[in-house]
Amino acid sequence: INFQPTSFVTSAADIRQLPADEGVEIAFAGRSNAGKSSALNTLTRQKSLARTSKTPGRTQLINVFEVAPGQRLIDLPGYGYAKVPLAVKEKWQRALSEYLQKRQSLKGLVVLMDIRHPYRDVDQELLHWATASAIPVLILLTKADKLKPGARKNTLLKAREAALVFGGDVHVEAFSSLTKIGLAQVEAHLSRWLND
Ligand code: GDP
Repeated sequence: INFQPTSFVTSAADIRQLPADEGVEIAFAGRSNAGKSSALNTLTRQKSLARTSKTPGRTQLINVFEVAPGQRLIDLPGYGYAKVPLAVKEKWQRALSEYLQKRQSLKGLVVLMDIRHPYRDVDQELLHWATASAIPVLILLTKADKLKPGARKNTLLKAREAALVFGGDVHVEAFSSLTKIGLAQVEAHLSRWLND
């Protein structure tokens, strides 16, 4: 699949406002600052499809993009920001777990984690929800350019081992928007999800 023609469709304030549950979609999630916007821009070869470096903690919308008719990419709000009130966090968590459980068109979840500190508590929680709902997961260890090749390889192998804990279909790749490490693997994986 060529991801370059991807275009913005709409923003939704919450999961109930997403487009009709038809066709196929892939959701992207990660802690704020994990590199999610950069990854979406890299994947689609666009400079500013997804906005990078948003004000952290600000109420964020779910952004919906279309690769082609009936093929969507869903950019979920960054999570894990300490200043968000607990009630807001809990509401969002309930909505997100419901989305993972019920969304028929959801074919896969991309979870972005900074390669220098993967598997934070919230990441783990999300991974448990996804695998419990039998959603295939692609974990991207982002900013992989920050580690030297040896350390990168080591971290990737450890992260793959750690992924086994979650059971289910969880795949891990190192990724960099800066150097394009892992881009071909990501494209192949996402293409499979959208075509299946
Ligand atoms: P988001 O909050 O998850 O959407 O993260 P952004 O894409 O806005 O990136 C957060 C910060 O990390 C920005 O300062 C980016 O320039 C930086 N960043 C993102 N991807 C990479 C990468 O692959 N390598 C490096 N070195 N920095 C990155």
